[in-house]
Amino acid sequence: MIPYGRQTIDEADIAAVVAVLRSDWLTQGPAVPRFEQHLAAYCGAEYGVAASSGTAALHLACRALGLGAGDWLWTSPLSFVASANCARYCGARVDFVDIDPATRTISVAALEDKLHRARRAGRLPKVVVPVHFAGVPCDMPALAALAETFGFRILEDAAHALGSRYGDCAVGACRHSDITVFSFHPVKTLTTGEGGMAVCNDPRLAAAMRKLCSHGITRDPADFNRPAQGDWYYEQQMLGYNYRMTDIQAALGLAQLDRLPAWIERRCELANRYAVLLQSLPLQLPSAPPQTRPAWHIYPIALADSTHRLNVFNYLRQRGIGVNVHYIPIHLQPDYQRFGFGLGDFINAEAYYGGALTLPLYPALTADQQDQVVACLREALL
Ligand SMILES: *Cc1c(COP(=O)(O)O)cnc(C)c1O
Repeated sequence: MIPYGRQTIDEADIAAVVAVLRSDWLTQGPAVPRFEQHLAAYCGAEYGVAASSGTAALHLACRALGLGAGDWLWTSPLSFVASANCARYCGARVDFVDIDPATRTISVAALEDKLHRARRAGRLPKVVVPVHFAGVPCDMPALAALAETFGFRILEDAAHALGSRYGDCAVGACRHSDITVFSFHPVKTLTTGEGGMAVCNDPRLAAAMRKLCSHGITRDPADFNRPAQGDWYYEQQMLGYNYRMTDIQAALGLAQLDRLPAWIERRCELANRYAVLLQSLPLQLPSAPPQTRPAWHIYPIALADSTHRLNVFNYLRQRGIGVNVHYIPIHLQPDYQRFGFGLGDFINAEAYYGGALTLPLYPALTADQQDQVVACLREALL
């Protein structure tokens, strides 16, 4: 089976993990802060806070931004459920903004329209979560301008977009947002097994996320409310979690980071090759707006005729091509129906989902394998 995505692990990764296993620190050692610093530097942010998953990092970010009961978080319905669930962990409510059919990311026009209506109803969001679908960056300058006008915070879900660029700016530099979150699940561009990171430029947000990541506890005397009672002393100052990344994971991430630029080059090559090979088929290919250089976490296409999707999907799977579908719109999940969402609420996301098919894309995919994917897809469609 050619999978839709796959990690790349080499001997340097294995050696880095083994070195941690032989060391004194399996967790809370030196590898985690080093990984935080290197990943933040890679994307041009000041601070990185590692977490046990991208989902945990999204939760920490929402808490640090003050999201709570009575607040609203808005995101794209075309995403993994975690982009929305992070609000509900905080007791906040979720609403969605439809996608732009060309970029498949949050529609700035739909957002602006919804913001005007929300202002009249007194229900403006506290946080908006743009999702860089497939690695295609959202229109961040436009979103930042709306954030300024309507007074919301921006949390970028960049689980797909490590290494993507917008103009002269890397995703994660947070030039147009408060916090950016990455995931290091094995299907993502860089892996730590499970893992995630929130990056930002505001030292207070970073400190808040770091504290929440470890039970709400501080061990920094400068931060104590009361006099230290001895060297053992620490304070829990808020209710936090154990969302810590281990040093085993961080060592893997650090080792992987060295090869990230080459992997992104390879992903772009393969995406460009798909675009050429598929151009005459009845499909909508993913496209990158001018000014952007996506790192192509996945290669999602949409069949022009969605009535063929199930057959095409099954045909490819039977031929050993591990296609997938990204995503069932979040508002159509059974657990979101009780909030009153239903079919027809976000028609562009729903229409895209109807024909969506994700083709294999990962650095070790060979040209021969890619030709095989294209040949099978052509057979299935014609
Ligand atoms: C993978 C993913 C997440 C969650 O990351 P985990 O590390 O699996 O918790 C969140 N949002 C999007 C868009 C994702 O693809």
